[in-house]
Amino acid sequence: MGHTAPPTRIRFLGVLALLFGLVFSAPAVADDLVVSRAVLDDPSGALSIADVAERAFTPIEGATLFGGVTNSTYWLRLRVRAPAGGGSVVLFIVPTYLNDVRLFEAGPGAPQDWATRATGNRHPYAERDRKRASLGFVVTPAAPESTYYLRLATRGYSQMNVKALVPQEAEAKDDGRDLMMVFFVTAMVALLLWALQGYLLDRQPIFALFALHQAVYTLFGIAATGYLAPLSSAAAWPSVVDWSFTVLYFGIAVTPLLFSRALFTAYDPPRWLMHGFTLVLGAIPVELAAVVLGHGNAAIIINALVIKLSWVYFVVLAFTLRKEQSPSRRVLQVFFIAITATNVMFWLTNNGVLSDNKENLDGLKLLIADGLVIGGLFAVMLHTRGRQLRRDAQKSMLGFLLIQEKLALEQKLKEQIEAQARTDDLTGVFNRRHFVELAERELERARRYDRPFTLLMIDIDHFKAINDTRGHSTGDVALQGVARVIGETLRGSDIFGRLGGEEFAVALVETGRAEAAEVARRICAAVAETEIASPKGGPVRLTVSIGMTQLDGRNIGFDAVLNEADQAMYAAKQAGRNRVIVNA
Ligand code: GH3
Ligand code: MG
Ligand code: MG
Repeated sequence: MGHTAPPTRIRFLGVLALLFGLVFSAPAVADDLVVSRAVLDDPSGALSIADVAERAFTPIEGATLFGGVTNSTYWLRLRVRAPAGGGSVVLFIVPTYLNDVRLFEAGPGAPQDWATRATGNRHPYAERDRKRASLGFVVTPAAPESTYYLRLATRGYSQMNVKALVPQEAEAKDDGRDLMMVFFVTAMVALLLWALQGYLLDRQPIFALFALHQAVYTLFGIAATGYLAPLSSAAAWPSVVDWSFTVLYFGIAVTPLLFSRALFTAYDPPRWLMHGFTLVLGAIPVELAAVVLGHGNAAIIINALVIKLSWVYFVVLAFTLRKEQSPSRRVLQVFFIAITATNVMFWLTNNGVLSDNKENLDGLKLLIADGLVIGGLFAVMLHTRGRQLRRDAQKSMLGFLLIQEKLALEQKLKEQIEAQARTDDLTGVFNRRHFVELAERELERARRYDRPFTLLMIDIDHFKAINDTRGHSTGDVALQGVARVIGETLRGSDIFGRLGGEEFAVALVETGRAEAAEVARRICAAVAETEIASPKGGPVRLTVSIGMTQLDGRNIGFDAVLNEADQAMYAAKQAGRNRVIVNA
């Protein structure tokens, strides 16, 4: 054996690991020009910038502000130092799905004259300061240190990560995000195409559901990272971009449920536990109704809960499976624990619990990692499953072929038995019953269409003497010999059989009188001329007497014809044997 290719699973995991490496080796965080950050909650959203400027803010650590539940508003105060060489600064804001972020900066020379600009999902892309996937404002600090206020109106729990970067660094950061996005979409679409191919091969709904999950998650990824925003240039689009994010956010809760339900069903989990799917899926229409009725925030919170609960539910389910399958239950358990653990870790990171990661937080890496981990692990599982399905299919195909073969054999056996029932054991020619059956059929036809029909009755002369002098077994050999000689004299369409003892008969169809008589004479001569080899003693020589009769358009039955032929044969015996007598 030569080179062996690594198993597909190993190769696949290798590619996945490589992708991860590339994604997480993105450039380090650029130099942040923010000197200090402070926050002020504004639950009613009623405060104006003039009010806020007078209030005391709470200083915060790190670049990320966590806050905002259901239509709340909060203010962020930034002290930004001017870059060394002067020029503009980019207030770089993620995540990109924030609906409304408003910037307030004091007018030059008139601190109470606030200039304001807005960005976010609810604002047309064309009106933004920066036309990139991230959100942000371009400001030009007049003093070595300037103060900026950001007002974030949010629905649902959110966070805002703001850094002040020189324009080149902001561009580089956005370029890095673009690159990560290309990796993400490529990997996700590759898995999607793989699943589609799997579906076309096996027609298993689970592959189609996985492909659907990949499609929805990829679209969600594109929407959540701001790559749908360019569509919001048209005046009507901002709300569409915002809405598509919401709908896709519900979508990524639904598709893993559909996929997992199809997956788990094969393992026969307890029925009552499977109702959990119905329950969780039932929450989705309720959430959508809540969105339509203006309770979008509540719906989003419920959805976040549904997603988290469903992963825990999957783990519970994985431990109650009653039927073994491929991949094994153990593999399923490990996978769902791994996926749930990953989700918990991401959630903790995303919410600032793992404080080390705060600095790097913009949700994009988490989104990519989440999508790839879930997609990758599911793909591995599906791959194993697909292979098993194909193996099963092969097995049942083999079973099918075996049955086919058995049936063919039985058919052959049946035909053999039937053929045996038609032939005479000793000579191999038709036996009496079958000869009569065929000859009667031909006689019937000849009578109906007024065609010629001839019957020859053939009896071996003094056959008893052979038995008496040479023994019974030599008699048998002689019988076989005579049958062979007669058979060789005939055509394929002639019907030839042994009526019993040393008597044979031939039915000639479509043969005129002269021609038939000629056939009879040829038989007579051929037998007389043939020396039949015998194992014991010398060869045997025999003659036959043949009686011939013809239908001649008469309306008579087979028995009558047979009787006529028999009489003619008897006449041949009387006339001295070894001859043909034709019934007049
Ligand atoms: P004939 O010329 O008058 O027909 O004389 P024959 O000896 O042939 O007369 P008969 O019809 O009386 O004899 C037929 C003999 O054929 C009787 C029987 O011993 C023998 N015989 C019948 N069937 C078989 C068989 O299957 N094998 C052998 N060896 N002999 C058979
Ligand atoms: Mg005889
Ligand atoms: Mg006889």
